[in-house]
Amino acid sequence: MLKDKYRLQIPGPTPIPPRVQLAMSRPMIGHRDPDCSRLVREVSRRLGPVFGTQNPVLLLTGSGTSALEAAAANLLAEGEEAAVVVTGAFGDRFANILNSMRVKVHRLDVEWGKACHPEQLDAFLEQHPRVKAVFLTFCETSTGVLNPIRELVGRVRERTQALTVVDGVSCVGGVPAEADRWGIDILVAGSQKALMLPPGLAFAAVSDRAWNAMETNPHPRFYLDLSNYRKSLEKDTTPNTPAVSLLFGLKEVLDMLDEEGMETVFSRHRLMMEMTRAGIRALDLELLTEDRDASPTVTAVKGGKTWSSEDLRKELRRLGLRVAGGQQHLKGKIFRIGHMGYADPLDVLTTLSALEVALARIGAPVETGAGTQAAEEEWIRVSRADHRSVKQTGN
Ligand SMILES: *Cc1c(COP(=O)(O)O)cnc(C)c1O
Repeated sequence: MLKDKYRLQIPGPTPIPPRVQLAMSRPMIGHRDPDCSRLVREVSRRLGPVFGTQNPVLLLTGSGTSALEAAAANLLAEGEEAAVVVTGAFGDRFANILNSMRVKVHRLDVEWGKACHPEQLDAFLEQHPRVKAVFLTFCETSTGVLNPIRELVGRVRERTQALTVVDGVSCVGGVPAEADRWGIDILVAGSQKALMLPPGLAFAAVSDRAWNAMETNPHPRFYLDLSNYRKSLEKDTTPNTPAVSLLFGLKEVLDMLDEEGMETVFSRHRLMMEMTRAGIRALDLELLTEDRDASPTVTAVKGGKTWSSEDLRKELRRLGLRVAGGQQHLKGKIFRIGHMGYADPLDVLTTLSALEVALARIGAPVETGAGTQAAEEEWIRVSRADHRSVKQTGN
């Protein structure tokens, strides 16, 4: 098959839109040049609505984890207490970051594949009244769970003085996020997931409460000292050389989001989730998550009894389609389909079609056409409903 033609349906990095790729190939500019300052000013402000904040969004050069570590290092110091809700591999990473700082970590471990429900968090918070911050994962990429962040953060704010830090790396830009209104103190995202950019930029939306807590935090930090990013941003710049080319791309991404409209972006992601789930069910495969816990950006599917999900992934790769495997104890047990960022319903159909062929080729039982048919029917059903609602509102 064509070696350079493949579909990247993994939950990050995700495909780059051609116009974003083109924007990133612009000739370099100096990072202290007025053109760069204008760019930094524009993108940090235009990211505000994507994160649901009035404040400009901080721009860090690093992968998503750099902003997670920054959140931890700026809010907490050795010996202080933090709670981490662990619903999968990325919650676990949050706990590891805090452990490395010798913060006293209280883990609320939730079965992988399930979301954390507000009542669980209530009981947990009651047991640990001294936590200074609660760390939550919005979309748990390792399982395809979307945690009910609005409710969870609401419970923390109602019952405690603790700060809330949310890892939104694999969903901000694809699902509604309201950092200010929901009371999130630090909302983190990365460039290479729903935001359609290459890896290399991380973002943080920071509340006034968090800034106050940072002022007195003695934990040592330099590259990740968020107050430096804030001071620099007041002068339309960054403390160090940013990933300038990615900033060119980011401006283009923000144009794309504006052109499509955020509501349409969100409903496109929901549609891709519904189509994927309908197709997987019609193929008699088992989804890892229940509907109510499912993320619009990534779907995890269990392997079969008579075939291995790793063999399936290898076969899909031969066909020109990349999906991700499982992490930690789910390695070899599930595969994960990313459907975020520069992805649309036709990508879902292609994925399901390739899945049917690959299942047949590895000798798994499959009714070819069943998955794509169910997904198409879901697409048609949703378009009819949209059409009706457009008629009713007269738009
Ligand atoms: C991808 C991802 C990260 C960041 O990973 P990096 O490799 O550091 O970019 C963090 N959290 C979640 C939930 C993710 O999906």
